Amino acid sequence: MARRIVIGSGIVVVILLVLLSLHLYSASRTTQLFGEITARVETDKPVVALTFDDGPSPRFTKDVLTILKDRNVKATFFLIGKETAENLPQARLIVDAGHEIGNHSYTHSNMAWMGLASVKDEIERTDAAIRTAGYQGEILFRPPYGKKLLTLPWYLSQHDRKTIMWDVEPDSETATPENADAMTQYVMDHAKNGSIIILHVMYRSRDVSRQALPQIIDGLRQKGFGFVTVSELLKDRKP
Ligand SMILES: [Zn+2]
Repeated sequence: MARRIVIGSGIVVVILLVLLSLHLYSASRTTQLFGEITARVETDKPVVALTFDDGPSPRFTKDVLTILKDRNVKATFFLIGKETAENLPQARLIVDAGHEIGNHSYTHSNMAWMGLASVKDEIERTDAAIRTAGYQGEILFRPPYGKKLLTLPWYLSQHDRKTIMWDVEPDSETATPENADAMTQYVMDHAKNGSIIILHVMYRSRDVSRQALPQIIDGLRQKGFGFVTVSELLKDRKP
């Protein structure tokens, strides 16, 4: 009896460890089971890519575009399909300004444990919305919350789609910069050649990120960095 309990609890511990490993693995920025994944591009050129997740929101898209236009910066916007369909005029503004657009799923759900049919639905409906907004280039993909495990990488690899993560995350919970100066300093300290910087600027709660954006651009320029879209950055990869 006692022996059975020991074996039983051993199995439970093993299962928990496996689940924990899968949970951690699903958030990895640099590896996945199938297909290409990029968190930073190995390059000698002093270039970085600014990327913005979520939206487009009716309220803040214009403000962000104005900041980028004033500083002559091209960026990459990973848009949510549902919000793109609901806010087509804002999506069109981003397209017309010449920025790159990526797919960030339709409903912004955690896709790590999602079935293949739902994965397909999330991706294809978002692509359709992005095309309706007039975007013509290759559409890169970024998973919501950076989470993926089996079905999502499988589907993307079967369709020759690239997964784009990030290596500098100034407004994340881990860095929690409470003001724009701290957020800017974080980027100055962490950006390298080929870095992919992620920022969230589309919602009201992200005032600090929007405030920091001009400073981040000016600061990186002062350090000698140029700004490219993610697709351009991928072409700069060292052979
Ligand atoms: Zn997101």
